[in-house]
Amino acid sequence: MRVVPDDVLGIYVSVPFCRSKCTYCNFASGVYPAGEHARYVDRLAADLDGAPRWAALIGVDLPARVDTIYFGGGTPTLLEPPLLARLLASIRNHFKVDSDVEITVECAPGQLPDEALGVLAAAGVNRVSLGVQSFVDREARGSGRLHDRAAVEQDLRRLRGAGIANMNVDLIAGLAGQTPDSWESSLDALLASGVNHASVYMLEVDEYSRLGRELLSGGARYRAALVPTEDAIAEMYTRAVERLAGAGISQYEISNFSRPGCESRHNLRYWQRRPYLGIGLDASSMLSARREADEPVADKYVLRSSTTSDLRAYLDETEAPETSWLSPARQHEEAWFLGLRLNTGVNIEELEGEFGCALVEPALETAHRLAGMGLLETDGGTFRLTAQGRLLSNEVFQEFLAASGEDRIVVALANGGSDEAGLVPHSA
Ligand code: SF4
Repeated sequence: MRVVPDDVLGIYVSVPFCRSKCTYCNFASGVYPAGEHARYVDRLAADLDGAPRWAALIGVDLPARVDTIYFGGGTPTLLEPPLLARLLASIRNHFKVDSDVEITVECAPGQLPDEALGVLAAAGVNRVSLGVQSFVDREARGSGRLHDRAAVEQDLRRLRGAGIANMNVDLIAGLAGQTPDSWESSLDALLASGVNHASVYMLEVDEYSRLGRELLSGGARYRAALVPTEDAIAEMYTRAVERLAGAGISQYEISNFSRPGCESRHNLRYWQRRPYLGIGLDASSMLSARREADEPVADKYVLRSSTTSDLRAYLDETEAPETSWLSPARQHEEAWFLGLRLNTGVNIEELEGEFGCALVEPALETAHRLAGMGLLETDGGTFRLTAQGRLLSNEVFQEFLAASGEDRIVVALANGGSDEAGLVPHSA
């Protein structure tokens, strides 16, 4: 697997506006007045403008060349089309954007007006991630989604008609009312849709979503009683892995599946620890410390920075981004968490080349122990999660923290929301 340093950047733009709040949503998104849109885009433009100065001040490399751009949130297409066009133009004005750049926009089905679609296609957007979650109308509705299956199918046709054929569909296993049969229906529809990429998430239960709070604390408003059991959710996930593989859409990351060559280049950055700049609400960046050419790579620190999740504070610039330097030891831990998320796994020779044997050795013992428990598999040179290990990935990752003596989970921040173990941007 390729590791930092790298001289090409990915840019993530957070657009936190939604038309309604989904019951399971634990992202920093909300239903805000449309009057905030122009001001928000002003702030994004100012952040883009100020990024080189900020990087110089803080001592990190900000590559000028960009090969992936990702608009997430939120529902980016709620921005008025001239604002969308302005944002895309602003990125191109400030960075050297590769001619074969991947530009992804998250879309909520039924919320992509013709004018916005035209602006996106004209500005070079070549990938769309559709937040479907379920093709079964009653499940989508019950989760607070505003679309039905017909709207999804119509959007897929319109996107293809506009020349955007590179499409992802998100599904969630574990929505209230979901059954094995209804899950099969969603998988049937996903496969019939002809998309080349799918993301399948297992429902997250935490206090940051209304459904999660109801599951933890009780209540009947969001139908928590109808959420399938953990075992049932695991079976749905496993079934998705099998059916997608059978259709040539192979798993390449815990929650992500694609036809060959159609992996999300932007999201791969997060797992491969390549540099990215996140702008907007609750956005993260990961950039390498500036170093002299003769400094050893193994001593290289990495900066992680995240912006506030409070829209008012972001607009008023009352909260500076939180930043922390990751030591080589901390980066080594992340190399395990993030690398194991990918089906390509963690290559020990590469890891030792980057971090040295002394850091890698204790983690290697842990990896062998987990392999003995059936959670990892190895060919001697590379470790990967087994199918069982993917279902228990958070427990596996925790073991690597224990190996390094850390007493708290270190989860690399994801831009625009993440699954529990980090770094899985979602679709609205
Ligand atoms: S899941 Fe997506 S569309 Fe729904 S509230 Fe969250 S960010 Fe908005």
